Amino acid sequence: MDTLDAYKEHLREIGKLESALSLLHWDQRTNLPRKGNAARSEVIGKLTKMVFGLSVSDKLGEYLDNLQGRDDLSEVERASVRVVGKAYRRHKAIPPAFYEEYAVAASRSETAWEEAKEKSDFGLFKPHLARMVEYARKFAEYYGYVDSPYDALIEEFEPGMTSAELKTIIEPLRDELVPFIKRLMEEGKRPEDGFMQGTFPEEMQRELSLKALAAMNYDFDAGRLDTTVHPFTTTIGPSDVRITTRFLPENILSGLASSMHEGGHALYDQGIPDELRWSGLDEGASFGIHESQSRMWENLVGRSRPFWKFFAPIAGEVVPQLSGVSAEDLYRAVNIVKPSLVRVEADEVTYNLHIMLRFELEEGLITGKIDVSHLPDLWRDAMKRYLGVVPDDDAHGVLQDVHWSSGLFGYFPSYMLGNLYSAQFFAAAHKDIEDLDAKIAEGRLSELLAWLRENIHRYGKMYEPKELIERVTGQAPDSSYFVRYIVDKYTDVYDLH
Ligand code: ZN
Ligand code: ZN
Repeated sequence: MDTLDAYKEHLREIGKLESALSLLHWDQRTNLPRKGNAARSEVIGKLTKMVFGLSVSDKLGEYLDNLQGRDDLSEVERASVRVVGKAYRRHKAIPPAFYEEYAVAASRSETAWEEAKEKSDFGLFKPHLARMVEYARKFAEYYGYVDSPYDALIEEFEPGMTSAELKTIIEPLRDELVPFIKRLMEEGKRPEDGFMQGTFPEEMQRELSLKALAAMNYDFDAGRLDTTVHPFTTTIGPSDVRITTRFLPENILSGLASSMHEGGHALYDQGIPDELRWSGLDEGASFGIHESQSRMWENLVGRSRPFWKFFAPIAGEVVPQLSGVSAEDLYRAVNIVKPSLVRVEADEVTYNLHIMLRFELEEGLITGKIDVSHLPDLWRDAMKRYLGVVPDDDAHGVLQDVHWSSGLFGYFPSYMLGNLYSAQFFAAAHKDIEDLDAKIAEGRLSELLAWLRENIHRYGKMYEPKELIERVTGQAPDSSYFVRYIVDKYTDVYDLH
């Protein structure tokens, strides 16, 4: 067999095992009976090992060596060799014995974190966190870096991003947002949302989510919607991209927003062309770019005035309590800003500040500027500076997120970058699509989707985030689009003068 064919066959083999793994994971988090968990974990462990074995095999290394020198490859094939080759070298850099040791420690650390969070006792988690920081620093040494060990870790989630660049993005963003939020809270008029109070049956909420997803043109013949505790989207395989969401009985908006968010992720994956299937390119360009799609549908569309012009009558039909409420009142009610302690409950104005705080702290941990034992105090201090609220226990402070417990450092910035990218993409879509707002107000969301498909989705992972953004918007990543979006929108919603 020709090397190129053998290479492609190797990737298809990995892809099929990953597909089985995705299904097992999805089932575990939606349907699996509790007692089935132990055996399921073993099956998942076995398959994970098989995938890992194939992804670091010497055979794959030979294929890559051979193909890197060939000049008869198509653009897609070249991108595949580049992306798969990079992942191969990163995997190969980690000694297997070290990885196994880390995996055991990470699993213990996660368990310790769960208990520590439950008891709100940072002391229980501290030694585990210190160990996870040590492992992360070793990973960074194995991967290699130019300026900061943190850069080696971000690379996994946002290729090409560095901590130095993040700092230049964050500083002006923080300087604009912190005083703006203060003004909103002190001088702004909080929208009325009394009509949103109540208890909403799950079936009703599900119907509302299904209507929104249908309007977004999510393909139900290539996916489905289920409920779970922590919502996620997963691609089981070609034309099988599933969404999960959660419905809170007393908050009609939360489930809808979560469904639209996951729907945005799913539209991205449903839009990846067959040509890229099982090539190593059949996923988003990065975590940040993926999050830009979910955030766009959740916030820039889902919390916009034009969307509610279209969606208010639908909401009124599904939720009788909302039937008399005007589109304008609904629009304002879904845009209430409230500095809060918990990241996952944050609105679009305050969300990025939660991320800046985490970036500041985790970067300090990885570079050794911050000692784990000072973390709870530093957390409270940063919350006060950024959001003006301070948790009175660690469960609602430094212990709230699962990420660090399993050694995930460098992941948080993706959330913030997603918000920033989404505003920049949306501005570009507005330039390209005539009367986009009017189209959204008529429920013609397909034109926006077609634009995203054409400019972003169809490339999968062919381009790194920066290159993709330049191609789509004609500019380097620029946080001023997000700032302008937030300031313009909330100056109006909060009636600032
Ligand atoms: Zn997301
Ligand atoms: Zn809580």
